[in-house]
Amino acid sequence: MTKQQCLRTLPKMDDLLRVIENEAGDLPRNLIKSVIQQELGRYRESLVAGKRDYCNQEELLTGIRLELKRQSQPHLRGVVNATGVILHTNLGRARLSEKCADMLTSVGCGYSNLEYDLDDGSRGSRYQHVEDLLMRLTGAEAALIVNNNAAAVYLVLDSITKGREVVVSRGELVEIGGSFRVPNIMAASGCKLVEVGTTNKTHLSDYTDAISEYTGALLKVHTSNYKIVGFTAEVEMRELAKIARQNQLPSIYDLGNGLMLDLSPYGITGEITVAQCVSQGADLVCFSGDKLLGGPQAGIIVGKSDYIAAMKKNHLLRALRIDKLTLAALEITLRQYLDPAKAAQSIPTLRMIAESPAVIREKAERLAGLLVEVGCRCSVVRSAARVGGGSLPAVELESYAVAIHMEGLSPNKLETKLRGNSIPIIARITEDCLQLDLRTVEPEEFADIVLCLKKIISDLG
Ligand SMILES: *Cc1c(COP(=O)(O)O)cnc(C)c1O
Repeated sequence: MTKQQCLRTLPKMDDLLRVIENEAGDLPRNLIKSVIQQELGRYRESLVAGKRDYCNQEELLTGIRLELKRQSQPHLRGVVNATGVILHTNLGRARLSEKCADMLTSVGCGYSNLEYDLDDGSRGSRYQHVEDLLMRLTGAEAALIVNNNAAAVYLVLDSITKGREVVVSRGELVEIGGSFRVPNIMAASGCKLVEVGTTNKTHLSDYTDAISEYTGALLKVHTSNYKIVGFTAEVEMRELAKIARQNQLPSIYDLGNGLMLDLSPYGITGEITVAQCVSQGADLVCFSGDKLLGGPQAGIIVGKSDYIAAMKKNHLLRALRIDKLTLAALEITLRQYLDPAKAAQSIPTLRMIAESPAVIREKAERLAGLLVEVGCRCSVVRSAARVGGGSLPAVELESYAVAIHMEGLSPNKLETKLRGNSIPIIARITEDCLQLDLRTVEPEEFADIVLCLKKIISDLG
């Protein structure tokens, strides 16, 4: 066949449109048309390039159906996190508790008293909803919420140290994923970074030597995502706060992780809580809402009311303003901390950290049993889960995983297929073996996993 003849085997747009519209229910016509155009174009190119020598209409239709399915479902959607990383930044960090769902629906799909005072029937402030709660939970005088912790640090520096020097230990010049770098934030907010000490050791005298008439604050940054071990020294918050006070300077702690409860019963030790930072004298503490706090993405600032008042007056706050859905989820999450014993169970992030290896093993055995029933070759293996999200880098949580062995499908190919599932399943490859870590998988998700593997097995034939 000549190129011309072979191009003539391509079906007409209208014919394809009729077939697909018949099957596609109520998908928008424009979407169907543009997908057909795109796939026809792609097919035409492959004919021109000589990769095919006639049009196989079924093949073309299958391509159109697949692409239409891909384009008609929401791009942002839920996945199953079987990586064993509890706060996986790429997978949305903290999972919200079921208790948030009702409030998100009611506040998001309806009107709310976001900025309305129900007692007076007059204008209110969106910041009032969680301020008292945060004060009660942390012992701070005042609190303020913004979009994320990067914004919180930025607002703090811009509001109270602009144009002045901020003293930070060289061991704490952190870079957090997504290009939050302490030195850059400092430059953006118009402060001058004064580095003191060395990478591994910073002493109290390093700070005191650096204090001058130009100093605006002493800043401590939690080394959230790395650990300096060996011959080290850092200045505790208590001491830093003391010399700040003696020099009439504010002390700021960028705590990052937002730990609210003592997690030492679960093997996580040596971490300071927000309330401890406050009681040790930090004038301002800022942290993320979606790390160890276990809530939505937010930046939370707690501390002295004079400083918080200065931030409330800063015009930047308007640009960093938190939205109602976040506030709704944050308030519900914070309320769960009013009963600390229950919080470790009802807040998913904490529940996953606290879950005992025996319970995880039992879950893994249950899932493996269900998978064997659909003809999947698998076994339960020990594994190491992580807290993740740039928190607690040195902590490994004992865990269990289901390792899957698929005849005729490499671990990489299997990983891709799981990821391509209608409810994507994000797995991990360890020691050349595909594993589903059960520390981050809830039993309600088993059915989706089983269904997906059943399909993969039947496709393999
Ligand atoms: C995570 C973290 C940040 C950034 O917080 P986001 O909420 O991701 O913007 C800043 N500082 C520290 C110490 C952190 O751990």
